[in-house]
Formats: sequence, structure tokens, C-alpha cells
Amino acid sequence: MEDIVANIKEVRERIEKARERSPYGQEVTLIAVTKTHGPDVVQVAKDCGITEIGENKVQELTKKMDYFGDSLNYHLIGSLQTNKVKYIYDKVKLIHSLDRINLAKEINKRAKDLGRPVKCLVQVNIGREETKGGVDPDEVEEFIEQVRHFPNIRIMGLMCLAPNIDDREELRGYFQKMYKIREKIAEKGYNELDMKYLSMGMSNDFEIAIEEGANLVRVGSALFGLRDYSK
Ligand SMILES: *Cc1c(COP(=O)(O)O)cnc(C)c1O
Repeated sequence: MEDIVANIKEVRERIEKARERSPYGQEVTLIAVTKTHGPDVVQVAKDCGITEIGENKVQELTKKMDYFGDSLNYHLIGSLQTNKVKYIYDKVKLIHSLDRINLAKEINKRAKDLGRPVKCLVQVNIGREETKGGVDPDEVEEFIEQVRHFPNIRIMGLMCLAPNIDDREELRGYFQKMYKIREKIAEKGYNELDMKYLSMGMSNDFEIAIEEGANLVRVGSALFGLRDYSK
């Protein structure tokens, strides 16, 4: 647990340095990805001032919501099955993984009586990898053209998981491409959209992502150590 406190401090410092190198002067929010970890770990992060929690599975997210209630903000960052929307749509701050019209329809339908739109990022499969979800980079505009007419969804920007590669410059290229896609859509000036977020960067690549304009970074293992999926 002492490690976690030190890790959080170090990651925050690295975020700040990367931010200073970024030409965009953006503010950066750290989302602590707590998947596979229990409430004890989340509590340590919370005590360090972490307010944003990311989970890739609905079941793990709802567990933490039950435990911590309104004292934290919750981000669903993993792929979302349509039949699980009902468990989270009214409690999450942001869904990062909107990538199908059917999913948009379900969120829109569920949120009918919520009194506010559900905030979502469109996930982009920036590396065109078969193993990953997300809209093809060439189809993001068209996808958003459709979803922007859904009254109970508010698109807040884009999210990606970069390919797991060692070539830093190739990685940088993916993040730059994300930035350009967001700019292009933001320039249309649609009222229903607020393209302010770019959710990209994880433990391995958050500094490059920030240098290329990311303002939400999702960091897990650099804060909490390697995950044990057998638990
Ligand atoms: C697990 C996960 C992360 C965090 O990954 P780390 O490499 O541990 O920082 C970020 N985003 C998504 C979608 C994830 O599933």
C-alpha cells in the first residue's frame, strides 16, 4: 500500500512533466484503473486525492459503485454489452467505449427518463486491430453523424487503446491521428457534441499520449502494480 502512495505521486509528476512538453497546454485528468483490485486499494487511491476510477467490466464497476457511492466518479472504459447498459447508464460519469449503433440505441432508450444525456466517448480502433473494439478510424465521422441525433446521449470526445508496440514513434503517430480526427469533428461545430475529451494513454504510453494532446489518461499497473487475474 505504501508503494501505491509513492506510485501515485510519481505518475502525477510524470503527467505534469509530459503536460509541460505538450504544445496544447491542456489540463490532464488521471483516471485510476482499479480493475482486479478490491476496495482497500481503491481507498488508498481515494485518500491520495484520486477522484476518477476506471473499470473495464460492468460487474467490477458496480461493485465499486456500491461500496463508494457518490464519493468517486466512475468511468466505464472496457467494451460494453448492450444487455449490461441498464446497470450503469445512470451512475457513470463517462462511458469511454461507445462503438456500435446498437449500443447507442440501448443507451439512448434507457436514458429516456434520466433527465440528462449520458456522456460517452466514441472508441476508435486506431490501430485497426481485430482483437480490439472501436470504430474504424475512417468511419468515425459517419458514426458520429448518426449518434449525434440521439437526444439522450452526449458525445464528449474520443477514446482509443493504442496497439501494444515498442516503437515509440509509431505509437506517437496513432495518437496524432486521434487528435486530428477529433479536430475535424470539432470543427463542424455541432451543438449536440462537445468534443473536449481525448482519452488515450495507459501505463506504457501515457506520456506520449499527453504530448500529443490526451486530456484523460487511464492508468492501472503503473499505480497498482501488475494485476492478478486469478483472484
Ligand atoms: C486495463 C486498462 C487500462 C489500464 O492499463 P494499464 O496498462 O494497467 O495502465 C486502460 N484502459 C483500458 C480500456 C483498460 O482495459
